[in-house]
Amino acid sequence: MKKIRIEQGDITKLDVDCIVNAANRSLLGGGGVDGAIHRAAGPELLAECRTLHGCETGQAKITRGYRLKARYVIHTVGPVFSGAAQDAAALASCYRNSLDLARAHDIHSIAFPAISTGVYGYPLEEAVPIALQTVSSWLDEHPDYALTVVMSCFNQRACDLYTEFLEDRPS
Ligand code: ADP
Repeated sequence: MKKIRIEQGDITKLDVDCIVNAANRSLLGGGGVDGAIHRAAGPELLAECRTLHGCETGQAKITRGYRLKARYVIHTVGPVFSGAAQDAAALASCYRNSLDLARAHDIHSIAFPAISTGVYGYPLEEAVPIALQTVSSWLDEHPDYALTVVMSCFNQRACDLYTEFLEDRPS
């Protein structure tokens, strides 16, 4: 578990190889963390996103980071919370596909926001264990790949939940 770190604050300020954006299917910007990332990265990010022609729920696409410290941004589209069983699978896919894409681009540090837990309405207490479980399984499946994963939380409650579930997990 030591490869997973929790950091409170603005994901756009983190000094990592890559930050993950909780985007919408158009990839053309939005509110929340998406808006913050586009503001910090500058207009070149939107220009590159336009060339990607959107992204399906649960999938991920990569761009450069432009004015961010992070060299790359991985854009993934979380599920809009509906209460159906497939929500969890779609959310887990976001983390898994982002990590696969990171590895394909030789990224060794990556920060995730709490995907879907803002406007998309996924309850934090349900999303946090899915995020941690998916990331930790992926790390276990790739023992030879050096990757530090930062779980970025924007508020104290998210931090508390990540801390609680991370401590609960056997290492
Ligand atoms: P979604 O549409 O996937 O729900 P949101 O951007 O609305 O995406 O919210 C996702 C999570 O990102 C929420 O937990 C929100 O508090 C958090 N968040 C918003 N802005 C930032 C930021 N600048 N850095 C890190 N996390 C952020």
